[in-house]
Amino acid sequence: MSRTLFVLILCLSALRLGVSLGSRSILRTVPDKNGDSEDYAVDLNATNFDAVLRDTPATFAVVEFFAHWCPACRNYKPHYEKVARLFNGPNAVHPGKVLMTRVDCALKMNTNLCDRFSVGHYPMLFWGPPSKFVSGSWDPKQEKSEIRNIENGRTAEKLLSWINKQMGSSIGLDDEKFENEQNLSSNISDPGQIARAVYDVEEATSIAFDIILEHKMIKSETRASLIKFLQLLVVHHPSLRCRKGSAEILVNFDELNPADMNQEEVASEKGAVKNFQICGKDVPRGYWIFCRGSKNDTRGFSCGLWVLLHSLSVQIEDGESQFAFTTICDFIHNFFVCEECRQHFYEMCSSVSSPFNKARDFALWLWRAHNKVNDRLLKEEESMGTADPKFPKMIWPPRQLCMSCYRSRSSQPIEWDLDEVHKFLTSYYGRTLASLYKSNSALGTIGADGVLDEPTTSTNAVAVPVGAALAIALASCAFGVLACYWRSQQKSRKPRRSSGLRLSEGHD
Ligand SMILES: Cc1cc2nc3c(=O)[nH]c(=O)nc-3n(C[C@H](O)[C@H](O)[C@H](O)COP(=O)(O)OP(=O)(O)OC[C@H]3O[C@@H](n4cnc5c(N)ncnc54)[C@H](O)[C@@H]3O)c2cc1C
Repeated sequence: MSRTLFVLILCLSALRLGVSLGSRSILRTVPDKNGDSEDYAVDLNATNFDAVLRDTPATFAVVEFFAHWCPACRNYKPHYEKVARLFNGPNAVHPGKVLMTRVDCALKMNTNLCDRFSVGHYPMLFWGPPSKFVSGSWDPKQEKSEIRNIENGRTAEKLLSWINKQMGSSIGLDDEKFENEQNLSSNISDPGQIARAVYDVEEATSIAFDIILEHKMIKSETRASLIKFLQLLVVHHPSLRCRKGSAEILVNFDELNPADMNQEEVASEKGAVKNFQICGKDVPRGYWIFCRGSKNDTRGFSCGLWVLLHSLSVQIEDGESQFAFTTICDFIHNFFVCEECRQHFYEMCSSVSSPFNKARDFALWLWRAHNKVNDRLLKEEESMGTADPKFPKMIWPPRQLCMSCYRSRSSQPIEWDLDEVHKFLTSYYGRTLASLYKSNSALGTIGADGVLDEPTTSTNAVAVPVGAALAIALASCAFGVLACYWRSQQKSRKPRRSSGLRLSEGHD
């Protein structure tokens, strides 16, 4: 109950507070006055400083304190920008590693901020984990600080060499996107990478929603399916930002997308749902981190979508497992624009005969379904030469990630220890996925701009008999006060036909 109350309070406060200051717009490259070069470093000021540094997926940040009238700063700018190009913006060569920012201390509004960092000359550069800058300070007398003054960064070469030293990397000033990927660590060589996938889950959620709107996919026969998926997201999405956005859409769904609205109206301004950004205005950011491929056309969205589905599957409780199963199957069937993918997935969904009673069974079913896709694609991609060389398909998890998941060293077919697989999935897509986000967010305040809490704990929603539109209303209530509130706002309406899945076989 406390969870549902929390969601309700959060949602109501979200409605009042509006959207946060964030980095989406400023992360975009901005043409300069002459239109012949671009600024990649993010302009920060006293108002957005904490919010941007708290929300960034980057592991490190560089903050340049400068004054716009200072000639040395003006001459330094091309050097700084040369490095910022590598890390910032949708076309960054090495996204998600370092956020390059600047603060103009000549602006009165930034005086206190510059004082906090004891800025004594221009330009002055600092390095540290972004979260340490949030409400942070720097004092030359302070011995132990995770924020460090970059003393030797006066040319692009020197600054980058300093950064490389801190990160143990070998990034070059001339690196180009997808041409220099030896630094891209595979998700297996670095299992901790999954902690960064939460940003990709946000990206995938936002893109999925944009696609639904762009392709005008909300129709009378698909509305119920989207509403159910939003209900799942409100409670179980690993990002509070997306939970909050899903709740806002859900609460206002009928106003935003009236059932009697035609497709032209939906596409026009009248369909106000199109103006909603489900994970806040900072997302999509335009790049992938965990799901980044080593080529332009590999991984990305579909990888983010899988991670979202797995993260949902390990959060639900037993009573929600059948609801989650049908909701995810219907969502993919109705809203995943990859025709082959949705058909294959729907076939797998349809081959399940008995309802899921245990969350564990559903999480394992999804894991198996994903492995079936991997198995098929492994052969296909090999024969077509379309695999991402850095991320070939495999039966997952490999031994490097979970030795205990394998009952024996070499048996074929693999003998899985399902208890261990489930334990691994729960930890990988639950705790670990949310860990980085949680620590980044721990410094903020609830409500203002999507600060996160624990990975979600579940409500006790009942399983929903598939295909019964009436059950959708019941499930809404079981999913908490918020959904009930939304339901109570619905005008008296007749039960609608659901695009629900029909069951045929057993799942194990
Ligand atoms: C529902 C769905 C159905 C799809 N069906 C098709 C299809 O029919 N044909 C097609 O060409 N493409 C299909 N795709 C796309 C395809 O599965 C991959 O997403 C895409 O090729 C990108 O692959 P990837 O290397 O990023 O890894 P992905 O397969 O996207 O996996 C993302 C990450 O999930 C983890 N992972 C891998 N396997 C598992 C598992 N079994 N359980 C849990 N976690 C795992 C790994 O860390 C991996 O990096 C589908 C995608 C989705 C979401």
